[in-house]
Amino acid sequence: MRLTDIYNKPDKVLSFEIFPPKHDDELKNIDATLEVLCDLKPDYISVTFGAGGSSNNNKTIALARKIKEQYGVEPVVHLTCMTYTKAEIDEFCKELTANGIENILALRGDYNPNVPPKDDFRHASELIEYIKPKTNFCIAGACYPECHPESESRVTEFKNLRRKVDAGAEVLLSQLFFDNDVFFKFVEDSRIAGIEVPITPGIMPVLNANQIKRMITTCGATLPARFEKIIERYGDNKEALFDAGMYYAISQIIDLLANGSDGVHIYTMNNPQVARRICDAIKNII
Ligand code: FAD
Repeated sequence: MRLTDIYNKPDKVLSFEIFPPKHDDELKNIDATLEVLCDLKPDYISVTFGAGGSSNNNKTIALARKIKEQYGVEPVVHLTCMTYTKAEIDEFCKELTANGIENILALRGDYNPNVPPKDDFRHASELIEYIKPKTNFCIAGACYPECHPESESRVTEFKNLRRKVDAGAEVLLSQLFFDNDVFFKFVEDSRIAGIEVPITPGIMPVLNANQIKRMITTCGATLPARFEKIIERYGDNKEALFDAGMYYAISQIIDLLANGSDGVHIYTMNNPQVARRICDAIKNII
């Protein structure tokens, strides 16, 4: 089913993100994860894709196919472009089509010091412009409620986002954030900028202190004072931080849905307990 059809349904859209395991022996564990995730009846599951130089990208496609065929859930395959040529992207697209994939999340990818960018694609919008006329994929794009870390200005960021949508992105999935007001303002400003497609909030439950540090440095998410208090109080207590992180994510999701978000995308980090706990808490809400 195409993402646009999923978002046209009257119900709220529940989706998960997973990543393909690095090592072959972990592939066995992915079934245990998928069994729990798919039992929670998500509308789709998105599968991440390396930003070049990774043999794991074949695993992305295999995992997406497994999600569709074995578990009957719609997959969305992330596709990065910065480190690939047009010919390589053509190959990926052929492979995706041959594997029955209908939806992709078109991305530039993060800079990787070990894999230099190639010349064919500098931005996700260029990937979308390239593949839209020659494939039948339903295409999603990424968006950043707190601006992308490389952003020149908020105005430029919206112009570039508009470019992505004009090129053919039909749904936007957001970067993680911890302050819902930032997301609500972002959606409002997107509408003012003429961006009309569904914008789905991405929520990542915080489960440990190292993960928080990593997230702040890589994606620039700001921490609201009430969240900082949680880290200050429970940062050294693994179990307490897990509980508090889950509670924070669940209250964020309830607030988002209550205020009109048409769904929620949960960064599961391949942890089925995380998804189960969230879904149990929101089962009568979503
Ligand atoms: P772009 O849309 O190209 O934007 C990047 C920056 O360039 C922004 O500041 C933008 O304003 C600017 N820009 C855009 N277009 C132009 C233009 N035409 N001219 C000048 N400037 C422009 N990374 C992975 O490697 N693998 C994944 O699977 C993955 N999944 C992700 C899923 C989600 C939901 C999100 C939010 C991010 C994901 N990422 C992933 C990270 C993503 O690749 C990085 O954030 C990357 O730095 C930017 O990707 P993008 O597609 O948003 O880039």
